[in-house]
Amino acid sequence: MTEVFRKYLEATPGEAEERKGSPVCIVSHPDAFAERGPCQREAIGEVWSLPFCGLHGREAELAARDEMGISLEGIFSGLVALEQERHDRNERAVRIIEEAACSKATRRFDTDTLAHGEAIVAAYPPEELEQNTDPDTLRYDYEHMGMDNPYEWWCDAQLMACRFMRQALDRGLAGFLKDLEYVRERATVQRLLAGRYLEKARHERVHL
Ligand SMILES: [Zn+2]
Repeated sequence: MTEVFRKYLEATPGEAEERKGSPVCIVSHPDAFAERGPCQREAIGEVWSLPFCGLHGREAELAARDEMGISLEGIFSGLVALEQERHDRNERAVRIIEEAACSKATRRFDTDTLAHGEAIVAAYPPEELEQNTDPDTLRYDYEHMGMDNPYEWWCDAQLMACRFMRQALDRGLAGFLKDLEYVRERATVQRLLAGRYLEKARHERVHL
């Protein structure tokens, strides 16, 4: 099975000079940086066929795996539900689908939310980026907040961007990937900043 983060082959000593033309990391959305502008670090490999440095690539890799895990989970539970609704339900088919859902190949994409959260913080340090917090996040009425809040909106946007990127890659629509990555970077940073802002708002309410 293809690796999610496909690393370039190590350059042999002396070859580094010849690698001047190697791609730089794609991460470039203004929300992802404070003053210093796009990443520009040398790319060490590719996720969704796009070049990434180690730090941003690790985050992109976990984001892609997260999305694949969620997508597979949805497919398998849909298949089980479909079979269970049938009059002449085949219990063996249900068992086979459930076993497939637990198989090693599927579990490979198990969502590791904690690791992804840590990778986002490492790739996009929130203390440096706080000033980029989206105005809608700052304006949101946290007094009446439920599950429908800016953090959830950005989580959905981020997941959706990853989904479109996987689908674009599968369908050979590589031309869309760069634009989708730009959208994904914004959603990833805003998800992080909205989560922090939400925590701060909660904390302030508790201590009023
Ligand atoms: Zn980078």
